[in-house]
Amino acid sequence: MTRVLVVEDDPQLVRALVINLQARHYGVDAAPDGATALRLAAARQPDVVLLDLGLPDMDGVDIIKGLRGWSRMPILVLSARQASDEKVAALDAGADDYITKPFSMDELLARLRAAVRRTEDAPLVPETALVETADFSIDLLAKKVVRDERDIRLTPTEWHLLEILVTNPGRLITQKHLLQEVWGVSQSNKSNYLRVYMAQLRRKLETDPAHPRYLITEPGMGYRFEG
Ligand code: CA
Repeated sequence: MTRVLVVEDDPQLVRALVINLQARHYGVDAAPDGATALRLAAARQPDVVLLDLGLPDMDGVDIIKGLRGWSRMPILVLSARQASDEKVAALDAGADDYITKPFSMDELLARLRAAVRRTEDAPLVPETALVETADFSIDLLAKKVVRDERDIRLTPTEWHLLEILVTNPGRLITQKHLLQEVWGVSQSNKSNYLRVYMAQLRRKLETDPAHPRYLITEPGMGYRFEG
C-alpha cells in the first residue's frame, strides 16, 4: 500500500483529501502542523508527502529542507500562494512538484501517481554508464555527478531530467516528452517547471549557466544535451 502523509491545516481540505485517497486505497496520515509532519514523516516513512506551504507553526519550505536532510521521498507542494518565487523556493528546497489551490482532485491524484511512479521506475541500465564532458562526469549507474573533483548533489527530479537528456546525446527532447516522463503531465503550459529545473541543473553543471555549453535550449521546442 502506498502511504501518503498529508500536511495541511485546513480541516475541510484534509477531510476531502483523506476520503479521496482512502477510496483509492492509499494509506493516509495527516498532520495539521510542521512539527507533527516532521515527526510523522520519520515515524511512518510515507511514500509521498502532500505539503501545504502555509502552516501555523513553520514555513513549508523549512519542512522540505528538514525532510531532504535525510529522505528522497517525493514531496508535492500544495500552495495557495500565487507568487511564483514561493514555488521556486519550494522547488529549490527539493520539492518535486507543486499544485496551486484550488486544484481538482483528479489533477492532484494524477500528479500523485506520477510522483510515486518516478520513485518506483526500474533504474535504467544504459550501455554506457559513464558520460564524460570536459567539465563534469556522470555515472548513470551510481547516479553520481562529479565536477571539479566534487560530488554534485542533484534532487531526484533534476537527476531524472538530466538522465533523459544525457542518454540521448545530441537529440532534441521535446518539452512535452520531458513533462510526460518527469511529471506525468503533457500540457505545454507547464513548461515553467522545465525552465526552473533546467536553470538549476545549469547552475550546478555549467561553467557559465547563462551561456550553456551542454544543456542547450531549443526555443519553443525542448532541450538537448551536447556531450
Ligand atoms: Ca494553510
